[in-house]
Amino acid sequence: MNLKLKSNKNLLQEIKHLATQERDLLMQVLHYLREIELRKLHLSMGYPDLYVFAQKELGYSNGAAYRRIAAMRLLESVPEAGEKLQSGELHLESASAAQSAFRKEDLRRRNAGEIQLTKQEKSEIIKDMSGKSTRQAEHLLFEKLPEVAPLAEEKMRPLADQKTLIQFAATPELMEKLEELKNLMAHQNYDGRMDVLVEKLADLALQKWRPKVSNAQEPQKTEAKTPAQKSPAPGVRTRYISTAVKEAVKLRDQACTYRDPKSGRVCGSKHGLQFDHIQAFSQDGPNTAENLTLLCGAHNRWKAELEGLVR
Ligand SMILES: [Zn+2]
Repeated sequence: MNLKLKSNKNLLQEIKHLATQERDLLMQVLHYLREIELRKLHLSMGYPDLYVFAQKELGYSNGAAYRRIAAMRLLESVPEAGEKLQSGELHLESASAAQSAFRKEDLRRRNAGEIQLTKQEKSEIIKDMSGKSTRQAEHLLFEKLPEVAPLAEEKMRPLADQKTLIQFAATPELMEKLEELKNLMAHQNYDGRMDVLVEKLADLALQKWRPKVSNAQEPQKTEAKTPAQKSPAPGVRTRYISTAVKEAVKLRDQACTYRDPKSGRVCGSKHGLQFDHIQAFSQDGPNTAENLTLLCGAHNRWKAELEGLVR
C-alpha cells in the first residue's frame, strides 16, 4: 500500500471512513461472539470459556478479549448501547467498564438483599457516559455506583526478573490484620517482608479454595471402616464410585479431558472438575476408572445438555 501519492484531503477522508468501518466491524465481532456463545461453539472446540477462545482462536490479547466480551454482555442488558458504540459516542473501554461495574453492583445488591439495578437505570448511566472521554465516562460511572468503584491508588507495574510492583491503599483495619499476621508468622518471615507474608497467605488460601474434584475427598476414612454404609447393596446399580476409583481417575486425568474431535485440542481446565461417565450411566456404563473421566464444569454441563437433547 503506497500512501505517499495520496493527497492530504484524500488521506484524511479515507482514514475517517476506515475508523467508521472499524467500529462497524467491532459491532459485528460482538454479535458473532454472542452467537458463538449461544451455540457453545467454543466448548465444542475444546475451550473452557469464551475468553480463552477469543485469545487463542482470534488472537486477541487478554484485555482486548475481556473488553469485547464485556461489551457483548452489556448489549444484552442495554441494547441501545450498540448504537452508541457504533457511532463512536461510547468507547469500547467505557462499555466494558460499565458492564463490569453493573455486574459487581448487581452482585453486591443481591448479597445485601437490595433491589437490583433496573434496565432503565443502566440505560440512563450509559446515556450519561456517552460523548465523554474514557476517563470522564469511568469517573461518572463510579460517581453513580460508588460502592463498586476501584481504588484509584491501585496500581501494578512490571519489573525486571518477571516481578511485578503492586501498590494499593490499605485501610487501618487491613494494616492491623497484616501486623498481627506478621507477628504470628515471624518465625518464618523474621524481617517481616510484605511479599513473603502475602505469598504465605496466598498458599494458605489456595489450599482452602482451589477447586477440588467434587465428592472426591472425605469418604475415605469412614468408608474404610464401614464399607457397608457406603457401598451399594449387591445387585443394585448405583452411581456410587469408590474412593479408589476416584483417586485413580484424578491421578490419571488431572484436568478436563474434553477433546475437540476436529482439532484434537484438549480443554485442560481445572475449574469445577466433575467425574463423567464415558459410556453414560443410563446406558449401562460402569463406575470403573476406564469408563470415568474428568470434565470441567462448563464441559460437564454442556455434555449433560447435549445428552438431554439426544434422549
Ligand atoms: Zn473443559
